[in-house]
Amino acid sequence: MEYCKRCVQPDTRPGIILNYEGVCSACVGHEEKTKRIDWKARRRELELILNKFKAKGDTGYDCIIPVSGGKDSTYQVYMMTQVFKMRPLAVTYRYADRTPLGQKNLDNLRKLGVDHIDIAPKPEVERKFIRKAFIEAGDPCLPDHLGIFSVTLRTAVNYKIPLIMWGENPQLEYGGKDEERNNPYLDRKWLSSHGCLQGKLAEDWVDKDLSLKDLFIYTIPSDEELASARIQSIFLGYYLQWDPLQNYEIAKKVGFEESPDGPKMGLYDFADLDSTNIIIHHYIKLHKFGITRLHDNISVEIRSGRMTREEGVEILKSKEERVPTYEIQQFCDYLNIKESEFWEQLEKFRNKDIWKKDTDSNWYMPNYLKGL
Ligand SMILES: [Zn+2]
Repeated sequence: MEYCKRCVQPDTRPGIILNYEGVCSACVGHEEKTKRIDWKARRRELELILNKFKAKGDTGYDCIIPVSGGKDSTYQVYMMTQVFKMRPLAVTYRYADRTPLGQKNLDNLRKLGVDHIDIAPKPEVERKFIRKAFIEAGDPCLPDHLGIFSVTLRTAVNYKIPLIMWGENPQLEYGGKDEERNNPYLDRKWLSSHGCLQGKLAEDWVDKDLSLKDLFIYTIPSDEELASARIQSIFLGYYLQWDPLQNYEIAKKVGFEESPDGPKMGLYDFADLDSTNIIIHHYIKLHKFGITRLHDNISVEIRSGRMTREEGVEILKSKEERVPTYEIQQFCDYLNIKESEFWEQLEKFRNKDIWKKDTDSNWYMPNYLKGL
């Protein structure tokens, strides 16, 4: 477990590769973003694309924006409707555990001038899928991530809407290979290798309890369907600099509300507030990769220049990320399992390369924050 020399990400986080100077791929990507990318040119490139699709739209919509109810959704809708004067259709894959605040923020973004489709799966199929994803992949949010992609792509095909405007490019923001960081497109190949899906599409989750028909809502249109619909799928974060704080400030001006009780996890009170399972998804990363949401948020703050590395390290050393007991209880109630079963399952995902047992048989990470 080695940490980046500039931010606080360890190389155990997926996508983080340290270069010969000990600098991580996300920091290299950020430097590229701020120094080498001509953002004015990228914006002009975006305007050209949008103008082309404005002319094409003959169904009442010229693009689709997948929205969840978070700050980025509000920012994306604001930019498309108010700044670029597009006529988007907003689409949501409805999480099982949508929070009242997530709902409120979704209701608010419609006021920016979009129609909104909220697509929800059958509750029993969803519960089985979430359970299976938690037990087999250690990620209760995997069905949500798959649903976001599938309902968005399928809606684009069905409504014949030729452009999908995604938000951030995770490879650009959190680290990835050069070719991934600079790829503005999202296609089937991208989906099966990234996007928090662990390389698995709906077909790979079929078993005796879940048929492909049950899972239809999670299936991605075929390459042929996508090709004949001529859908272009791009990331707004490729064309406009993506910064969570800036997105939040813009979203807040148009009615987005942050958590009234402070951050759910990590540093930001404006993030991770539209679902409770996302909190568990973040918490499991401690077992899998030895990181918490604080590592992600602090690294973003250091890269943006709002925090020094020393300040970030100080927070990590003095502040321990909370154990999300309330969310775990909710999750166990939802799956109808005992809390002890939750912890047993979680134990399967503990990464033994970074976690060791001390003489009292307690787990600890010998290299946690070492050298920071
Ligand atoms: Zn870094």
